[in-house]
This record gives sequence, C-alpha cells and structure tokens, in this order.
Amino acid sequence: MTKKKLGPMNLYPLLPRTNCGECLPKTCMGFAVQLCERGLTLGNCPPLKAPEFQANHDKLEALLAPPVKEIVIGKGEKEIKVGGQLVMHRHELRYFNKTAIFTTVDDTMIADDITSLVQETSSFSHPYIGHTLKLDGITIRSRTGNAENFRKTVEMVAGLTDLPLILWSSDPGVMSAGLGVAGDRRPLIYAADESNWQEMSELASSTGCPLAVHADGNVGTIRSLVSAISDRGVKNLLIDPGCGFGEALPKSLDNMTMIRTSAISGEDSLLGYPLIGSPVTLWDQGNSLPGEAIRWMESCLASMMTIRYADLVMIRDPSMWSTLPLVVLINNLYNDPRKPVSVEPGLRVFGTPDPVTSPVLITSNFALTYYTVLSDIEKLNCYLLVADTEGLSVDSAVAGRKFNAQKVADIISSSGISKKVTHRTLIIPGLAARLKGDIEDAINWDVMVGPRDSAGIPAYLREKWDGVDHKPGWSYR
Ligand code: SF4
Repeated sequence: MTKKKLGPMNLYPLLPRTNCGECLPKTCMGFAVQLCERGLTLGNCPPLKAPEFQANHDKLEALLAPPVKEIVIGKGEKEIKVGGQLVMHRHELRYFNKTAIFTTVDDTMIADDITSLVQETSSFSHPYIGHTLKLDGITIRSRTGNAENFRKTVEMVAGLTDLPLILWSSDPGVMSAGLGVAGDRRPLIYAADESNWQEMSELASSTGCPLAVHADGNVGTIRSLVSAISDRGVKNLLIDPGCGFGEALPKSLDNMTMIRTSAISGEDSLLGYPLIGSPVTLWDQGNSLPGEAIRWMESCLASMMTIRYADLVMIRDPSMWSTLPLVVLINNLYNDPRKPVSVEPGLRVFGTPDPVTSPVLITSNFALTYYTVLSDIEKLNCYLLVADTEGLSVDSAVAGRKFNAQKVADIISSSGISKKVTHRTLIIPGLAARLKGDIEDAINWDVMVGPRDSAGIPAYLREKWDGVDHKPGWSYR
C-alpha cells in the first residue's frame, strides 16, 4: 500500500497542543511543521517526555520513521550514519546522510601498500566552498579465503585507522576471524547471501554489527533474504543488489531505482534499507585496460550509483583526481536545496591590515561569491565586510533588495569596522554600482565602485587605491 505523504496535520493532534512556548517555534503547529521538515526532533518538545504523552510519543516516532532506515557503521566520533532517506527526489525535501565512500584493501596486499592506502584514505581532504570533503572508511576484503590471513589484515588496518570498517568475506569462518579482532568497532559485515545467510545472521546478532545483504541482480532474492534475516531479529541491514558492467549496468541501476521507489512509496518495507554500490568489483573483471582508465571508470560508476540512490559506495583506492568528481558530486547532491549555500555575515581580516592605508571591501554572504572573493584577495592586507544577503549573490541580492544601503549600514555598524580604520572609504562590488549614492548617504563614507569580477580586485587596487592621496602603502603580503 502506498504511504501517504506526512503533513503537519498528521502530527499536530499527537502533540500536547498547549502552545507552552518551550520549543523554538513556540507553538505546537509550528513545531509540527518543523518535525515534517526535519528541522526539529521530538526531543525538542520537553512536555512530550512526560509519562502521560508516552503513547503519543511512540506514535509520533513511528510516523516520523524514515522509509529507508538509518544505519550506523562504526562507533564513537568517527561513526557514520547511512540511509535515513525520506524522499525519492532531492527537491521534495532534501537527502540526509551523505553517500559514504569506502576504499578497499585485501589480504593479498603487502603491508606497505595497505599502510599507504589506509593513510591516504584517512588524510584525504579537499576544501570546497567552505566544506572539507573527506572519505569515510576502509573495506577489508578476504581474497585468500584464509581466516588467519584475514584476521592479520583486519588487525593491521584497525591499528592504522579509527575510520569505520567493512569486513568483506562470504565465508562465515573467515568473517568470524575478522570480527574477533574488530567486532567491537561495529564494522559492516559484508555480506549475507543465499549460501551463508543463517551463519552471517548469527554473527550479526551476536556482535551487534550491521549486515549487508547481497544478491547479484536479483531483487526477489534480496527480498527473501531480508525477510528471513529480519525474522531472526537482525534489523540493521544494508542492501547490495550488485554492480553490473557494460550491458548489465542499466539493469543494476534500474534495480537500485526500483528498490528505492518501493521503499519510499511504502509499497515494500522489506526494501527499506540503505543501498550499497560496489563499483570496486570492476577490478575483478580481468580488464586489460590500464589501471588509470579503470580508476576513472570506477569513479564514473560510483557517481552513477550515487545518483541512483546508493547510500554507500566501495571503490578501490583514494587517488585524488579520480575520486574528486565523486566527492564533489556527493557534496552538491546532499546540500539542502531549500537553503542557499551561505556563510556567516561579519568582518573578515586578511593579513595584517593597517588602520590608515588598508582598503575595506564588501561582498555578499553567498558561499560561492564569498569563497571566490576570498581566493582573489587572500594575499592582500585588507578588510572584507560580508553583508547578510540571505545567501544570494551580489547581482541577485541587488535585484531582490537584499543588498541595499540599509544592509551596508547594518554591517558597518555591527562589525565595528569604524574603529579599525581611520579612513572612511568603502569599496563596493561593481555589480552594486547603482547603489553608490544611496550607500554614501546611509553610511556617510566615500564609496568607490570596484570591479564587477573579484579577480580584478588586485589590479583595481593598484590602479585606484594607490592613487588616493591619503591611503598610500596598502600592500601584498
Ligand atoms: S514545546 Fe511542545 S507543547 Fe510546547 S509549544 Fe512546542 S510543541 Fe507545543
């Protein structure tokens, strides 16, 4: 049966309805709206904790449970959550819990190679519009099928990193050896299939670890396995429907879409678990292509599977240039589309500005604009005021009156810039040129119109700022 879309009116009757004001919206209806949009949780309503509301609390919890279950892998500070999705399409609300990327080592690799891959994964870091993009964990795969080899490899990797782990073997004896040394880290057990699901279920049950369910290309088998495994009380599951290549790829992507559609629509709760994409198996295909080409294909496949709802992808190694498109895609896909990507308004100081000679510039708080300006002026000694334009770029904010004389006056006043410089000259973006007169009237400063593109700021300052008699000497650092 198709699940009805949850709305505030489904939740409001179960709230205390006293409008006590203890939550941020201060009214029960406002709180119901925030619950629907996942801006607040039930814990934000203190009266709901009272014993007389326990039954309502439980009903609300059931109504709010995401159709794709949220699963935790790992423990402590580095644990990750996957799944927890509420919608099929990002624009309907937003996606939760970014697709996790795991790189892969195996028990045939020499110690130096394992160490370098684990270290490269742990230290992977790429700054991107105010975020630091990182990788999430390490998969340890048994290729030899030897329990002692696997145990040693798992022990080594666990000693090298505190990132979450996936243990990969279809042999319950080998898996048991790995869990013996890393079971307390709550790794993902990968994977239960038709041949081993009873033993793997027991391992998941006895260790409390999440369990992946795998059946290559067969959604019916996955359903049966999930049903049988959950009947045994193992509920923290992920689903890997297989990763086909070449002509088999469209079928794999269709399967992922079908599984996610069935879960989100409420038609099939047995498929309501996070999805795993395993493009790392591309390396098993006996491909004659050079390694670099396979790496790019793997990144491309992982990206396609991410777009088709994969909550976790396994790739081989963390080569920066092949992995970068994937991490950027994931970051963009998981941003909240309802919120412009913005930075905090306020004053930024670059280098060691001088109160007499250093320029004061202003821009909007749209993150892309801010980080572009930042990269263009970071080698200067200057001040930058970031106006609150509600996350809009300068030209949109001027058109929408979010960047106006009053906003500039507000940031001049709240930033305290008047106490930091003795001059009274502000450089506004060229895209806000038409506001020059209004701003001068509002703040009683001289206003200079800067370039339309922030890349031109250094050249502009050399030409215009140096030429102003009372402000010589601004400089590069
Ligand atoms: S705290 Fe709870 S009872 Fe109070 S207004 Fe908010 S939702 Fe209503």
